Amino acid sequence: MATTPPNPAPLRLRLSRDALVANWRFMAAQSGTAACGAAVKANGYGLGAPDVVSILAKAGCRDFFVATWDEAMQLASTAPPGSMAVLHGLRHGDIAAAAQIDARPVLNTMGQVKLWRDAGQGRACDIMVDTGMNRLGISPGDVGSVASAGLNIDTVMTHLASADDDGPQNEAQRALFAAVRRNLPARRHSIANSAGILLGSDYHADLTRPGLALYGGVPRAQAAGYITPVATPEAQILQVRRVQAGEHVGYNATWTAQRDTDVATVNLGYADGYFRAFSNAGHALMGDKHLPVIGRVSMDLVTLALSPHSQITEGDWVAFPYDLPEMSKLSGLSQYELLTSFGQRFERFWV
Ligand SMILES: *Cc1c(COP(=O)(O)O)cnc(C)c1O
Repeated sequence: MATTPPNPAPLRLRLSRDALVANWRFMAAQSGTAACGAAVKANGYGLGAPDVVSILAKAGCRDFFVATWDEAMQLASTAPPGSMAVLHGLRHGDIAAAAQIDARPVLNTMGQVKLWRDAGQGRACDIMVDTGMNRLGISPGDVGSVASAGLNIDTVMTHLASADDDGPQNEAQRALFAAVRRNLPARRHSIANSAGILLGSDYHADLTRPGLALYGGVPRAQAAGYITPVATPEAQILQVRRVQAGEHVGYNATWTAQRDTDVATVNLGYADGYFRAFSNAGHALMGDKHLPVIGRVSMDLVTLALSPHSQITEGDWVAFPYDLPEMSKLSGLSQYELLTSFGQRFERFWV
């Protein structure tokens, strides 16, 4: 039976290997003597976890953090042996998967500790201690019970709630973790996410866990200029039309032509993560030509103004520069939300 060749997508996410590796190396250097891992949950923050893991493993990364066992399963053939930790720990329903996958649960509750003690067959686990975020993790008062449970503990970690701020919470969490870890021996200790790494050596411990910065996010202002964007949406022009002076473009006619203008309609919209907040605000590039977004961004389409006598035609590709701090300011969305919103219709390709 003949198979039809795949239909080329009219939108693609250009992903830079060099930028990903450079960002990881920068965060590794900022981590001092600590090993530098990578948070690859949520499909590598939307960029494609299998590719991210294979690229960073080649660069020397030996610790990968996912949220769920399903995510671990999808990386089982790519991640180096013993490199994966599952941040959400272990539910009863995860035991069968955990038995087959080379990954450590990060145990968050006394219930999870008991479950792994009984079902883990002596395999290594990690422990998350909650030092004040009050989200996931063992309470400091329960650390003694964890220590006496006879677990094979690889890494004891905590997570900072406000590492991107300068308030007193960082130091409070650091000090509490320093006290707690004395009662919970482990091979390694770990505190810092991307922003936490930039708080300095008091926060580095043995292992760091950056996510955002690897993918081009700037976690604290001091990293601006050192972090390189990794992902750039590109999309194909479906139609070019001449709009007469006084005519409008798009839903609710939010843009009016001041003079006759060539307008390009492009195959990208808010369903792909190019949000309505970029209406009359974002821009695309064709070479060095700046093409402003005009009118409302719709679900599947966005409209751009072309300059007079532009050679740009139907079928051409345009790029949408995606500086995360800038797009975050434009949209009011966090850099994390912007990354994880890149949709399934993109063809993701690494250059
Ligand atoms: C997501 C996550 C990280 C990575 O955080 P970034 O802010 O993206 O660097 C680190 N540790 C834990 C426990 C996480 O959940």
